[in-house]
Amino acid sequence: MKTLISTDRAAAVELLRKGEIVALPTETVYGLAANALNPIAVAKIFEAKERPRFDPLIVHLPSRDWLGEIVDLPVQDRQLFLKLADKFWPGPFTMVLQKREIVPEIVTAGLDTVAVRISVHPVLAEIVCELDQPLAAPSANRFGCVSPTTAQHVMDELGGRIRLIIDGGPTEHGIESTVVAVRGGKIDILRRGPITAEQLSEFGKIDIVMPSRKISAPGQLPLHYSPKTPLRLIDNAESFLPQENQRVGLLAWNPVEPEKKFAAVCLLSKRQDLREAAANLFRHLRELDQSALDLIVAERVPSRGLGAAILDRLERASHDQSVVPDMLE
Ligand code: AMP
Ligand code: MG
Repeated sequence: MKTLISTDRAAAVELLRKGEIVALPTETVYGLAANALNPIAVAKIFEAKERPRFDPLIVHLPSRDWLGEIVDLPVQDRQLFLKLADKFWPGPFTMVLQKREIVPEIVTAGLDTVAVRISVHPVLAEIVCELDQPLAAPSANRFGCVSPTTAQHVMDELGGRIRLIIDGGPTEHGIESTVVAVRGGKIDILRRGPITAEQLSEFGKIDIVMPSRKISAPGQLPLHYSPKTPLRLIDNAESFLPQENQRVGLLAWNPVEPEKKFAAVCLLSKRQDLREAAANLFRHLRELDQSALDLIVAERVPSRGLGAAILDRLERASHDQSVVPDMLE
């Protein structure tokens, strides 16, 4: 794939509208953006970045008018929330809020909350307003690499993997946005960034919530959705036999006919498409978790491309169930 660096904002909007991903400048670092309401488009972000796992992404809104669509505004902490929004939006400031149904689970890594931001960068602002859809946009670098602050950095990282990089010059802040959650009248800082604790402390009591652990190992944190039902990874559902009276649900990779041996079946992708599987993963896990099962068995997906991220999530979900009773083995 040929990657173009350009200032053609209309081309960016067109690609985003078609469900493609585009690298865009923000005031913090360059982001790799997709329509946040299109789960397949969002899966392409993880694919291009080669993220070996799914982390929750930040959603950029066209304006505050979109808040009501995407999140349930806090009831108890509403005044504090509004004060922070008035002061720091648009800007390098992200707030974690209760997500609404419309936000796909792949965006939030299965969490009930979503991180939202409104960028002040004129290019991003113009594109997201013209698109008139929220954008999910993590930093536009390959996994484990440094966040890009110029269009050329993005080219070095993702050249050949994406079609378009919009050049907006070097970014202003060069570090990622400050992430906070407002809870019980205080401000939890989940990630430090351009808006400092000192600035925030004018608005209420501050708590720094595990900043170093969060940055070094986001995937290790209890930040991800974990099913309550024990989960086991298997190679193939065909050879699996549930025990008598055991209600087992199947998260399937291989095509299956509805079968009596499983109490519930969710197929990750009819076409065995890893993007679609990634997009469906958390929704299906949640669905199975709510089906009153004794056990979820998940078929291994191929480990190529996005499959590694899916497997990582499934392995983590099975390890989370540290004690799987013997009867289930
Ligand atoms: P980025 O890689 O810049 O898109 O930032 C993603 C980071 O935002 C994550 O690693 C988290 O630290 C934070 N974040 C995103 N969504 C949430 C959420 N729902 N709850 C808590 N933190 C979040
Ligand atoms: Mg990043």
